[in-house]
Amino acid sequence: MRYSEFGKTGKMVSAIGFGGMRFDLTKSQEVNADLLKYAFDKGINYFDTAPGYCDDKSEDLFGTGFKKIPRDKYFVATKLMPVHVANELEAYEKVKKSIDRMGVEYIDFFHVWCIRRMEHFDLAMNGGLYNALLKCKAEGLIKHICFSSHQEGAGVRKVVESGRFEGVLLGVNILNFPYRWDGVLAAKEHGLGVVAMNPLAGGLIPKNEDKLQFLASPGETPTEAALRFLVANPNITVALNGFTTTEHIDTACRAADAEPMTEEDIARIKTHISRNMTRICTACGYCEECPENIPIPAYMQIYNDKAVFGKTDEEMVNSMKFHHEWGLLAEPRGSAAACVACGRCEASCTQHLDIIARLKEIAEWEAKSQEFNKTK
Ligand code: SF4
Ligand code: SF4
Repeated sequence: MRYSEFGKTGKMVSAIGFGGMRFDLTKSQEVNADLLKYAFDKGINYFDTAPGYCDDKSEDLFGTGFKKIPRDKYFVATKLMPVHVANELEAYEKVKKSIDRMGVEYIDFFHVWCIRRMEHFDLAMNGGLYNALLKCKAEGLIKHICFSSHQEGAGVRKVVESGRFEGVLLGVNILNFPYRWDGVLAAKEHGLGVVAMNPLAGGLIPKNEDKLQFLASPGETPTEAALRFLVANPNITVALNGFTTTEHIDTACRAADAEPMTEEDIARIKTHISRNMTRICTACGYCEECPENIPIPAYMQIYNDKAVFGKTDEEMVNSMKFHHEWGLLAEPRGSAAACVACGRCEASCTQHLDIIARLKEIAEWEAKSQEFNKTK
């Protein structure tokens, strides 16, 4: 296992982190909690969870698992959303609740959770959460204040440059890194620890290894390559993996012990991503100049699931709902239905995608997802 300093905190953290969002809840509390000890014995010392993960059972599972690990030998991270607290006192109480649930005296890395728009950052600063975290830090209840973001690279950079945080958690992986990489670089430049979540593109990579062979070097699988890409990357401090089984932990740890990807490896992958994956939007961003302000890369990444992996229309309607609430479309801009078919984006698309036709389909899914929301 490789270890490196988390930003400027002096904490030496493992290159692989344990993400507590994928426990198998059909298994017993003990079996799930034992995964933490198994991971610790393999060298993992960074454990990330949040209230709400796994039907809100993850923090409790962590508490059970931590009983078998010496407290001074691991680091725990958890989170709180600015939109989930009404004031500073409520935020303070929620931090203490997380501490109690996990049976620890302090939390090492506490995240302002899920900044999707700058207004979430503003809310954290002015709505009580950030002040509560400062108070907790002064009392020794938390050690470091971090944030998690689902913004594009430029948005992440803005929050980093606020100077309020010591670390950032963001969704970056071997397929989407051009989209968010500016945020990674900004964090690195400003001395923040960088934790990558979603290293396997939400399971898209392991589920589609046959289509993604180009990611791998001889003797490895695309999944191993995707992990190695992050784990060995000097700009990434921790690559989080959501573990369900001991086999998942073994796979991730093998990547941690593997040789770093070379510049040539990364260049080769970039070439494939930009030229050969004709059905996949690679989030390269070259089409961003839409006169209707439509977030084309965001829409096209969502469409990947349909074009490449064959999701049904019903699944795509659900996907639209999810992405409006949590994902790539949380930032309100032009909608798919606003496309006037000027053709500028198609002319500049590195993948020669039929963007206009795709947006038409997306507009239908979007309309259905909104109808669903109205009936709720
Ligand atoms: S074709 Fe539609 S999506 Fe593309 S640039 Fe023109 S308006 Fe925007
Ligand atoms: S240019 Fe094409 S591949 Fe690149 S982000 Fe835009 S739609 Fe996706």
